[in-house]
Amino acid sequence: SDKFKGKTVLVTAAGQGIGKATALAFARAGATVHATDINENALSALANEPGISTRRLDVLDTASVTQAAAEIGTVDVLFNCAGFVHSGSILEMKDEDLDFAVDLNVRSMVRTIRAVLPGMIAKGGGGAIINMASVASSIKGVPNRFAYSVTKAAVIGLTKSVAADYIGQGIRCMAICPGTVESPSLEERMRSQGDYETARAAFISRQPMGRLGTPEEIADLAVYLAGATYTTGQAYVIDGGWVN
Ligand code: NAD
Repeated sequence: SDKFKGKTVLVTAAGQGIGKATALAFARAGATVHATDINENALSALANEPGISTRRLDVLDTASVTQAAAEIGTVDVLFNCAGFVHSGSILEMKDEDLDFAVDLNVRSMVRTIRAVLPGMIAKGGGGAIINMASVASSIKGVPNRFAYSVTKAAVIGLTKSVAADYIGQGIRCMAICPGTVESPSLEERMRSQGDYETARAAFISRQPMGRLGTPEEIADLAVYLAGATYTTGQAYVIDGGWVN
């Protein structure tokens, strides 16, 4: 497909999981993709993919984000995928975990949006910003995910605010809210619970479809939203029927 031919897409956390699948999906749709991640090793698997160039980018570092945006030039689609899952309730959480979650899950998006939005505006509209939230947010109370849910709810608020402020300049901003998706970090969370098979069965049992989502299924939604020119300001649930 060449639907995104001539379009420049910037993806954060593209080294694995949903970010990687989305970088590949945009490239298959004809886009020029900048796949970025803090982990250069992980990115190397994408280095020879047609349409994809890779670059190390730590989204906690404002100067690096600004520099990357300047070097890449005008971005048509920004996919903010970077995020980290802390486990624990409010009483179990360390304050530094909340600080880190706000920095990586929320402020990273403030940094990248500030860096690319002026270019999108200068282009005269047509830009799309897609932010990774979760159903564990303002959408659903999920046990054992306090810091995570606080920050993913903030992503939805951030998304709606940007959408409202820039709709007049032709920029759209949307959030994606997955349920549970197969990914390297999910594998780690399941292994760290001690009994891997029990942890996996518990994750699957809360999915009415009887299975976890795949990164490719989330990537499809991201590509769809990038081209869905009559929607903005919405949070899209993609969770195998968990929230219903
Ligand atoms: P993952 O957690 O397995 O991978 C995360 C990637 O982020 C890694 O490649 C890592 O190197 C990168 N990263 C970490 N810190 C970074 C930084 N400072 N700068 C740049 N990159 C950094 O991938 P995933 O599970 O697909 O999750 C991706 C996003 O989707 C996250 O925002 C996550 O919260 C969200 N999400 C995931 C699920 C799920 O079940 N997997 C569900 C809902 C939402």
